[in-house]
Amino acid sequence: MENTLLVVFVVIITVDYFFDRIMDYLNASRWSNKLPEELKGIYDEEKYRKSQDYSKVNMRLGIITSSISFLLILGMLLFGGFGMLDGLIRQYTDHPILMTLLFFALLGLASDILSTPFDLYNTFVVEERFGFNRTTLATYVSDKLKGWMLALVLGGGLLAVFVWFYHIAGQLFWLYAWIFFSLFSVFMSMFYSTLIVPLFNKQTPLEEGELRTAIEGFSRQAGFKLDNIFVIDGSKRSSKANAYFSGLGPKKRIVLYDTLIKDHSVEELVAILAHEVGHYKKKHTLKGMALSVVHTGIMLFLLGLFINRPELSLALGGQEPSFHLGILAFGLLYAPVSLLLGIMGNYISRQHEYQADAFASEEYHPEPLQEALKKLSVNNLSNLRPHAAYVFVHYSHPPLLKRLQHLETFKQRE
Ligand SMILES: [Zn+2]
Repeated sequence: MENTLLVVFVVIITVDYFFDRIMDYLNASRWSNKLPEELKGIYDEEKYRKSQDYSKVNMRLGIITSSISFLLILGMLLFGGFGMLDGLIRQYTDHPILMTLLFFALLGLASDILSTPFDLYNTFVVEERFGFNRTTLATYVSDKLKGWMLALVLGGGLLAVFVWFYHIAGQLFWLYAWIFFSLFSVFMSMFYSTLIVPLFNKQTPLEEGELRTAIEGFSRQAGFKLDNIFVIDGSKRSSKANAYFSGLGPKKRIVLYDTLIKDHSVEELVAILAHEVGHYKKKHTLKGMALSVVHTGIMLFLLGLFINRPELSLALGGQEPSFHLGILAFGLLYAPVSLLLGIMGNYISRQHEYQADAFASEEYHPEPLQEALKKLSVNNLSNLRPHAAYVFVHYSHPPLLKRLQHLETFKQRE
C-alpha cells in the first residue's frame, strides 16, 4: 500500500510539473517578432519587443525555479526525506503540537533559504533591468524579517490550534477547524488593511483636490457611500501600478497605488475606481469569501477522511503515523483537486471582472476605463497575446483585448 501511494505522489507531482511546462510552451507559441496587427495602437514596436523580452525572461526563471523544486520534492519522496525529518524531530520532542510546528517551520525555512537567491535575482536583476524595481536592499531585508515574523506568529498560531483540535475533537476535528478558519478569514478580510498592510506600507487618506472631488461626485451619483479612499506607497517597491477594494461593511476601503495616480488622468482614475465600486455593488467580495469558505470546507472534510490512515505517513518514509506527515501527504494528493478548484475560481473571477467593467461603463464611461487599462498593460509590459488555454487555467482577469472588446459594446449603447 505504501509503495502504491508513493507512486501516486510521484505521478501527481510529475504530471503537475509537465502540465505547467505544456502551458508555458503554448503561451510561448504565441510570441512573434513583429508587432501583431491587433496590438497596434496599444504597443509601439519598441515597447512590444520589450514586453516580449520580459515575458521570456520571466518564463525562463519560472522554469528554472519550478524544475529545482520539482527535483527536490521528487528526491525527498524517493529517499524518504520527509520521514527522516520527522525522525530527527522525534529525537528532541514528543509533544504533538511542538513536533508539527517544528516540522513545518524547518520545511518552510529550508524552502525560503533555497528560493531567496532566485527572488533576489528577480527583484534586483530582472525587475531592475526592465525598469520596475524600486526596492532597496534595506526594504528587502526588512520585508523578509517581517514575513518570517508573520509566518511564525500567524502561521504558527493557526497551525497550533489546528493540531490541538485534532487531539481534542476526534472525528469532528475537521468541522471545528472549518468553523475556526472561516471566522479567522472573515476577521482577516475586515482587518487586513488596518493590521497587516501597515507593517509593510504607508496608507494615507486621499488628499482634498480635483481627484477627490471627482471621486466623491461619482460615488454620490452611483449611490455608494465611500469614506475610505487611501493612497498606498506602492512606489516603495515597484513602479507597477494597481488599485484594489478591501474589507467588509464599515471597514471597506478603496486603495489606489501612488504609482497609479502618477500615471493616469483624473477621468481614468475615476473609471478605475468605478470598476472597484462595481466589485462591491455586485457583491463580489462576499461571493469570493463564501466560495473560499466552501472550498476550505471541502478540503478539511476530505482531510478528515484521510488523516487517520497510517499509510500516508509510512509512504513518506515515516517510521510511525504522524499528523504532520499525514497533512503533507494529503496536500500532495489534494493538488489535482486544488488545481481544478483554482481553474473554477479563476473562471468566476474573470466573470466578476466583466461585471465590474460593465458597472463602470454604465455608471461612468467606458472610454476612460479602456484608456486606463491600455496604459496599465503597457506600463506593466503585460503579455497581451496569452494562449487561450493558459488564460483558462491561470488568469484571474480576462486578457486586455477581451476586456477592450467587451467595453466597446457599451460605447455603442451610450
Ligand atoms: Zn477588478
